[in-house]
Amino acid sequence: MLTLYNTLTKQKEIFEPIHPGKVSIYACGPTVYDYAHIGNWKTYITNDLLRRHLEYLGYEVRHIENITDVGHLTRDDISQGDTGEDKIEMKAKKEHKTPQEIARFYETYFKDALTKLNILPAHYFPCATEHIPHMIKLIESLITNGHAYESNGNVFYDISSFPHYGELSGNTLESLRIGARLEAEHPDKKNQWDFALWLKAPKDHLMQWDSPWGKGYPGWHIECSAMSLEYLGNTFDIHMGGEDHIFPHHEAEIAQSEGVTNIHPFVHFWIHTRHMMVEGKKMSKSRGTTYRIEDVETNGYTTMHLRLALLSAHYRSQMNFTWDALDQAKKNFERITNWVNNTSDVHENARKENREEIQRYEQKFWDALNDDLNTPKALSVLYELITFTNTHKRSVSVDTLNILWGRLNSVLGLILPSFSHETIPKEVTILTAERDEARMNKDFQKSDALRAKIESLGYIVEDSPNGTTVKKQ
Ligand code: AMP
Ligand code: ZN
Repeated sequence: MLTLYNTLTKQKEIFEPIHPGKVSIYACGPTVYDYAHIGNWKTYITNDLLRRHLEYLGYEVRHIENITDVGHLTRDDISQGDTGEDKIEMKAKKEHKTPQEIARFYETYFKDALTKLNILPAHYFPCATEHIPHMIKLIESLITNGHAYESNGNVFYDISSFPHYGELSGNTLESLRIGARLEAEHPDKKNQWDFALWLKAPKDHLMQWDSPWGKGYPGWHIECSAMSLEYLGNTFDIHMGGEDHIFPHHEAEIAQSEGVTNIHPFVHFWIHTRHMMVEGKKMSKSRGTTYRIEDVETNGYTTMHLRLALLSAHYRSQMNFTWDALDQAKKNFERITNWVNNTSDVHENARKENREEIQRYEQKFWDALNDDLNTPKALSVLYELITFTNTHKRSVSVDTLNILWGRLNSVLGLILPSFSHETIPKEVTILTAERDEARMNKDFQKSDALRAKIESLGYIVEDSPNGTTVKKQ
């Protein structure tokens, strides 16, 4: 039974899909104006983890992830300024390129990096710029339903018209008026906390479209309502994103979608990944800590080390990225790799009690993931399992482990060599197991002789408290 923490109800709930056996997920994708950084990857890894786990549980998952290539303004934050510059347009002007060139370049980078991190691609990646007519239609409906108003070529959402506003984030109109600070005021808004659905384009604005309100461009929030309604329908199971999206982006999305459909709740489960820190501080361009995959690789780590490091922190805890933590992930990854490569079938018949013990470990692994995707717990169970099987090498069947690893890794998504009888010759694995036994019996003379024999066959022997592993010289 899978439980997930739902930001909407602020509690862990048993996950039940709307349609038995099927799960629909919408995840906010990248704003394609810059290279994705490791903080972004933390959120995308959470999306991937949940998708893979649901698939492991047997659900047929439909996963939509948008590409934001218009409308995300530099001031689309808590201040709801609606006065900043479009991030893509700003980059295009700076680099003397078209917004399209900028967007496609970073979209390609994003998709290539997904592959490197072994993140399953969404079933569809709709682009905002290809859905302008859908957005205009929604805005027209919102005006008709009394949720939006036109003002000087702009259209704003009137948040006082929507009784559920604030349910997701706690930012009701009243609490905003009392507690929040407005950094910029928009002259055309009735209420400064209203948010833009459509903005009038200045003449020199590169991206602009015709609309019933004149030439303009959409606000950031409306794109996700348009694309999620289009591809997943009026109500769906799961919506994901980083925690900074809770407000204003997702609060606005609920107001828009429900304002059109009158269906409450629009989304059953809202899942948000906590923002990652780097070396104890917010990621920052000026400090040079918005690390990318390329920085990780330059420092001698692989994308699989990064994947394991990102999985090692729970998605709702504040992960602190450090190079030491990545180093630990590298060691853990090597431990898993050695385990996969070195555990071989030395006894034809696995002992039944060990098989049952292994099943108990596996159950603990799934229990951890079923408990709101508790990856740190699941990984610690995996490391315990590795210790157990390393110390019981002679009575664990490689086929049992091979099948087990296939199941666990369908969710972890680590690219590792698979178990293979050929990897280490049987003669070597038998000698290794005999040597483990000799060491356990403190027969060091025998263990030294066996080491020499293994080495003469071209293998290096490495001892650890969890048993012996061998590697090709
Ligand atoms: P953006 O491309 O800026 O729209 O961000 C893409 C996704 O990454 C969003 O879901 C953000 O919430 C998420 N994100 C941005 N910074 C971080 C961070 N430091 N840690 C985790 N997720 C982040
Ligand atoms: Zn979104």
